[in-house]
Amino acid sequence: MTKVLNFKQELTGAFGQPIAENPTQVMVESAYHHHNLDWRYLSIEVAPEGLAAAVAGAKAMGFVGFNCTIPHKVSVIPLLDGLGDSASLMGAVNCVVRRGDQWIGENTDGKGFVESLALRFNPAGKKVVLFGAGGAARAISVELSLAGISEITIVNRTEERGRELTNLLTTRVAENVSQPLHAHFSPWDGDFRIPEGTDLVVNATSIGLYPHTEDTLPIVRETLRESMFVADVIPNPPETQFIQMAKASGCEVIDGLEMLVAQGVIGIRHWSGIDADPRVMRQALERVFEA
Ligand code: NDP
Repeated sequence: MTKVLNFKQELTGAFGQPIAENPTQVMVESAYHHHNLDWRYLSIEVAPEGLAAAVAGAKAMGFVGFNCTIPHKVSVIPLLDGLGDSASLMGAVNCVVRRGDQWIGENTDGKGFVESLALRFNPAGKKVVLFGAGGAARAISVELSLAGISEITIVNRTEERGRELTNLLTTRVAENVSQPLHAHFSPWDGDFRIPEGTDLVVNATSIGLYPHTEDTLPIVRETLRESMFVADVIPNPPETQFIQMAKASGCEVIDGLEMLVAQGVIGIRHWSGIDADPRVMRQALERVFEA
């Protein structure tokens, strides 16, 4: 029998600007390699004015799907045929999936966070304090709401942005969840006191991201109690000042690498149907970050 040769690889990738410091390629290709998929994941620099052409190019070249990162998470929406439920609620897409001849926008950031959290912490009925109101905060707060939390306090430096996210949670999101959902905004002037009775504390700001690794959240340290579960979205370095502070307070923690890996697992599942091994993906990232 003649062996059938195939030199055509399936294509996936990330469109963003800047893209050079984005490590997703290393993580995703480690999974492709581990699971014997002859696929590629390309990091592609796409300027805002080139996005429509890039999406048309991905379609013409038969991409299986692609990630969108800064600054394309919102502007890609009109270029697609439809949105998944949470991407529609958030109004942001970070993962585009080809389904038949349709290109559908999903958001895996918040889902990755909740999947990695749910391995150790059940969010149902819980009270959350979340720092930040940008893209990551938006994705996480919507998915935590869909996962059943009862209360969330959004703490953000810029009041307008914080109130806008709180408003989204109390209106569209609250209408789409089965439990009563209470969302409040709290200004962040001076060191924040985490209220007693808080179950989960999340840093969804960019404070502590490389190279500003000495920066930490302005909070009153003693208000972080052992009973609180603490999460940080910063993937680099995984051991932020905030994570170190939480560990020293006796809190259980998850770091930003777990979220990054978990959202990558969901993306690969969307594109290939395979459940990729998160340990292989984390090891690949740890090698890159020398964590
Ligand atoms: P955005 O730019 O949309 O939002 C940044 C947020 O951080 C805003 O709320 C901003 O507040 C706040 N912030 C930044 N600097 C400060 C400061 N000095 N003091 C107080 N607040 C500050 O970014 P994203 O939401 O997209 O990303 C946030 C972080 O999440 C990034 O570091 C990114 O690496 C990480 N991330 C991690 C992922 C993972 O898988 N682990 C996935 C996605 C993101 P303000 O509104 O006042 O400007």
